[in-house]
Amino acid sequence: MTQSPTARLMDGTALARRITEESAEAAAELRRRTGTAPCLATVLVGEDPASVTYVRMKRARCRQAGIASRHVALPASVTTAELVGTVTALSQDPSVHGILLQHPVGPHLDERAAFEAIAPEKDVDGVTTHSFAAMSFGLPGFVSCTPGGIMRLLDAYGVEPAGKRAVVVGRSAILGKPAGMLLLARDATVTYCHSRTADLAAAVREADILIAAVGRPRFLTGSDLKPGAVVVDAGYNEGNVGDVDFDSAATRASLITPVPGGVGPMTIAVLLAQTVEAAGRQLGTA
Ligand code: NAP
Repeated sequence: MTQSPTARLMDGTALARRITEESAEAAAELRRRTGTAPCLATVLVGEDPASVTYVRMKRARCRQAGIASRHVALPASVTTAELVGTVTALSQDPSVHGILLQHPVGPHLDERAAFEAIAPEKDVDGVTTHSFAAMSFGLPGFVSCTPGGIMRLLDAYGVEPAGKRAVVVGRSAILGKPAGMLLLARDATVTYCHSRTADLAAAVREADILIAAVGRPRFLTGSDLKPGAVVVDAGYNEGNVGDVDFDSAATRASLITPVPGGVGPMTIAVLLAQTVEAAGRQLGTA
């Protein structure tokens, strides 16, 4: 017998729209007070279709929110030294308030060196070691956008992490690892799972809050879940499918993010919010 869904949806599209409206108001206020609009620089290496689309979407959202964007397109043949030079110049340019280096940048480049060339006060995508350390120590700074979006979704739906068992499947520097750190900072008991985890199913079954950040379509299913779990699916795989098998998971979870329309829109919303915040600090109004 097929079970009907019991989970409530966490609507990332609607929440992202609200956050973007707030960013647009803050950007307009900043422009009124300083005569300057917040400006996000986007750096794209090569012409990978997914990266081109992501950057186009981010710039379009900037426009809608009254945030200026400056685009720098570099050929796939660019060297690490040239890429670092470009990012350094943007870091030093007072008319740029935030920098987004779209990744992956290509296997021949030292991505970490390029990220580290982003000035901490302009790291609105939260990719530098400075930002990661600040986040881990609970110091002011910008969080990695997707984990930041996940936390805002949990807050909006009244999910209190304190005392809960949170299981993060995936440990990438931009997603899994910072998501776990943010949950730990909110007093969750955090378990990280990855490709070398011995008994993934046992760990996942313990999760009150499950963050799926694996990059494998429908990797986790309803039968893996603790009944009533809160399921956040950060995965985005070919064919618009997440890392969680939505139909089966929705019969066991209490709250679940859809794919698309869950975590994805929140990532861009946090990027815009952090760009406006960065501009406010640099223009001396925050
Ligand atoms: P990633 O760098 O490839 O990391 C994947 C993680 O999953 C790794 O830590 C890996 O473990 C783990 N993993 C892989 N196979 C596993 C298995 N069989 N069992 C347990 N763990 C396994 O990917 P990512 O950049 O974090 O992205 C993850 C997903 O999120 C992708 O679908 C991506 O498209 C999506 N994403 C979405 C957004 C958004 O805005 N919505 C933003 C970023 C990423 P090891 O560390 O041991 O290799």
